[in-house]
Amino acid sequence: MFSIEQSGFSSAGRFERVLFVGPPSEARAPIGRDSRLAGIRASKMDQLVYRFRNRLLSSLPADELSLLERDLQPVDLPAADRVQRSGEPIEYIYFPHKGVVSLDVAMADGGAVNIALIGREGIVGGGSLRVTRAATDATVQVSGTASRIGAKQFHQVMDQSSALRDLVARHDAATAVYVQQSAACIARYPVDARMCRCLLEIQDRIDNDTLPLTQEALAGMLAVQRTTVTLAARQLQDAIQWRRGRIGIINRALMEDAVCECYGRIRRHVTQLLPESAV
Ligand SMILES: [Zn+2]
Repeated sequence: MFSIEQSGFSSAGRFERVLFVGPPSEARAPIGRDSRLAGIRASKMDQLVYRFRNRLLSSLPADELSLLERDLQPVDLPAADRVQRSGEPIEYIYFPHKGVVSLDVAMADGGAVNIALIGREGIVGGGSLRVTRAATDATVQVSGTASRIGAKQFHQVMDQSSALRDLVARHDAATAVYVQQSAACIARYPVDARMCRCLLEIQDRIDNDTLPLTQEALAGMLAVQRTTVTLAARQLQDAIQWRRGRIGIINRALMEDAVCECYGRIRRHVTQLLPESAV
């Protein structure tokens, strides 16, 4: 017997994450980097695990969602995959269902500074101004899944859908607040408080006490040395626990005590602007 998850369009044309269970002879190729372009059609035998988890997609009226669904492709978001590069054309707009993508300002020395995290509450690459070249990098920090659509098709649907235009405008506003607060945070708060914010924001998006994140990846997101993260983690030893390549949040209340004010401010604004208490 085998058991494997795949995502694809059902016979009804909806994106679905499905779990296949069956004998080895019926196994299908697992989704990986090479098959991300493929829309894999699910059979009636498939066991539905979930439909759209992305809050923006799930909040669209059915008739306007159907305009997007025609061109949406299910894709995996492997950790460390860069789905958007600063200065390069934006080819696809991503709606994450699961996982976390960071928006990072690339610096001339090859480093990058994280300014926002996007999960199921948001969009990567899409905005009201229909900018065609990316201003930031977008890197998968926690692996997951998304639906994506070509930028040209996305803009065509925006022309037809007032609900999508409204959502994208709200997302623009939420991202602006997020980026403003991140800039203030980096200038004002020490790394342990910023680390708390980063970990809480990731936990909010994955609903899991264990974050699949290495110290090295976290150091990159905070734009500090790995040793700095190690020292900051010692300050939080009663709240977090490092396991091999993973961070366990063992006392969220302590994290909330230690986090900077920016966490609450960003959360309040995003909750007000985006549907269904998105994060
Ligand atoms: Zn802060």
